[in-house]
Amino acid sequence: MKFTIARRVVQLAILGLFIAGNIYGVNILKGNLSSSELFGVIGLSDPYALLQLFLAGFSVGSASVIGALIMVVFYALIAPRAFCSWVCPVNILTDLGAYIRTKLKIGKNLVNISSNSRYYLFVLSLVFSFAFSIAAFESVSYIGAFTRGVVYLSGSAISIAIIIICIEAFLGKRLICGHLCPLGAFWALVSRFSLIRIYHNSKNCTHCNKCKVVCPEMQVLDIVGKQSGNIRSECISCGRCVEACDDDALNFSILKFRREE
Ligand code: SF4
Ligand code: SF4
Repeated sequence: MKFTIARRVVQLAILGLFIAGNIYGVNILKGNLSSSELFGVIGLSDPYALLQLFLAGFSVGSASVIGALIMVVFYALIAPRAFCSWVCPVNILTDLGAYIRTKLKIGKNLVNISSNSRYYLFVLSLVFSFAFSIAAFESVSYIGAFTRGVVYLSGSAISIAIIIICIEAFLGKRLICGHLCPLGAFWALVSRFSLIRIYHNSKNCTHCNKCKVVCPEMQVLDIVGKQSGNIRSECISCGRCVEACDDDALNFSILKFRREE
């Protein structure tokens, strides 16, 4: 549970710092996940949102570009999709939805789509931004709407949370984060060479498949039991597989460029 607890602490601490900054003026973190200010001096921007704004024809200031570059470099170098499982507050809701789904023993998906749909939606969002001069995903983003609701203490956050939890629990397994979210797709593309990776040591693997049961991106564990190597960048670095594996076959490690048999 150590990674799950650590992730919740980080996710809630970030929301807490935003609330403290926005509502009570504490000068650590102000704004929201799309655009924020750290210690009143370092501007940070969501690079995907900025890309949409740029394609939509809005003027993008150099401070925002620098803020977006800081985020890209940070998330590109750290663990794959670290934003998804360590920062994004929607992850707390989708994990809760998945937990409810498991408890209610819901096996059937009402919506069946490929996990590649998020990449198509990512491309589509950029095309729509360019064609219709709107930041396409930003204007419908449940992540932005929920985060703003929380960090500005608006009641809208509760209704958005209920909708997200219900989608995840009743419509399809890991439907939002694992299939639909274009922001998750963006971070998966950015994280291809992230330094901290889950590494599978096939020599220790006993083929029990406990890791695949808990993994929200099960397809990334296709090498498990077959060959040693880094888990690819659709992994959200949640650490669940490390917690589940009793055989020391999966661990966080620094990116290894050589694949071992
Ligand atoms: S939980 Fe560990 S031992 Fe079991 S299949 Fe996964 S990697 Fe192999
Ligand atoms: S491979 Fe492990 S760390 Fe990556 S998403 Fe699956 S459970 Fe999480």
